[in-house]
Amino acid sequence: MGKNVTIDLRSDTVTKPTQKMLNAMLKARVGDDVFREDPTVNQLEEKIANLFGMEASLFCPSGTMANQLAIKLHTSPLDEMICASNAHVLNYESAGYSFLSGISYKGIDSSNGKINPIQIEESIRQNLDWLPESKLVTIENTTNMGGGTYYTLSEASAISALCRAKGLKFHIDGARIFNALVETGESPSEWGKIADTISVCLSKGLGAPVGSLLLGTSTIIQKARKIRKVLGGGMRQVGFLAAAGIYALDNNIKRLEIDHKHILEIANTLRHCSLVKEIKPPATNILVFKIAGMPSARFVKELEQVDIFCLAIDSEWIRIVTHLGITKEMIHTVKNKIATILS
Ligand SMILES: *Cc1c(COP(=O)(O)O)cnc(C)c1O
Repeated sequence: MGKNVTIDLRSDTVTKPTQKMLNAMLKARVGDDVFREDPTVNQLEEKIANLFGMEASLFCPSGTMANQLAIKLHTSPLDEMICASNAHVLNYESAGYSFLSGISYKGIDSSNGKINPIQIEESIRQNLDWLPESKLVTIENTTNMGGGTYYTLSEASAISALCRAKGLKFHIDGARIFNALVETGESPSEWGKIADTISVCLSKGLGAPVGSLLLGTSTIIQKARKIRKVLGGGMRQVGFLAAAGIYALDNNIKRLEIDHKHILEIANTLRHCSLVKEIKPPATNILVFKIAGMPSARFVKELEQVDIFCLAIDSEWIRIVTHLGITKEMIHTVKNKIATILS
């Protein structure tokens, strides 16, 4: 019996740089980025700011840091952020909003992770001494725990208009915004017009080993640079990593469509499995589904036996994420194994 190839569907963060990306990294010209003398970092920051039609951007070691910088810059202690209850900024960045910014949050329950202007307006606090002040709305595009659903530009524009009318700041956690954009065909520059800040991940489906960017006005990014430094995010000859990001933006956006197609194929198999109770409508590279008659941990264990890895979100819900390390052949294997376990 030959050894199985490992098929890692736990997250698109598991992607490793390809040889071509590594070659681009090796060729990078570098300098001290804290002195703003790393030409490759400067090039990446300018490139992505131009792409989104925003004034400036800042290279950060993680999406968590980019989001936390945005929250810090848009709020003061005692303020409140409005977002979906299952948002990454609430659940997977520890209690960073509290620790770093001293704010509270108002979570809106949403199965697909999207929130709308009516829900947001209902969540805005009255101006009373004993209430926190609503200051910031954060949306996630695509939604992670919501199953990879995305906002259309018109949906997000309606939220933006509400925020502007109510004097709220608007941050988009765009960790996977390119997954949304390849589906809608919308231009990133249209998205740049509607948000105060956007965070974008290079280390997920785009395949870079490290890095996220925060985009905004020059003034905001100038302040973000200072806070990034204090948080220990002032990196020196980091152009080697920025080069991976530039390579990712140039080569790995269009191919995200393949990952989305793979998710639809797995979803098709799940629809025919008797133990699958619910599937969040697949839209991009994430599939979130619920099983019954078997604890999710056992399902995960059984797949592990055949070298396929996915995540149990809780006792019932499971998450599968596709990415550039997953081939058509692997999807075929995954479909077969899942059908065997869940039928
Ligand atoms: C992955 C992710 C982030 C950032 O995570 P890091 O691991 O810190 O880079 C932010 N938001 C969402 C929705 C994510 O999925």
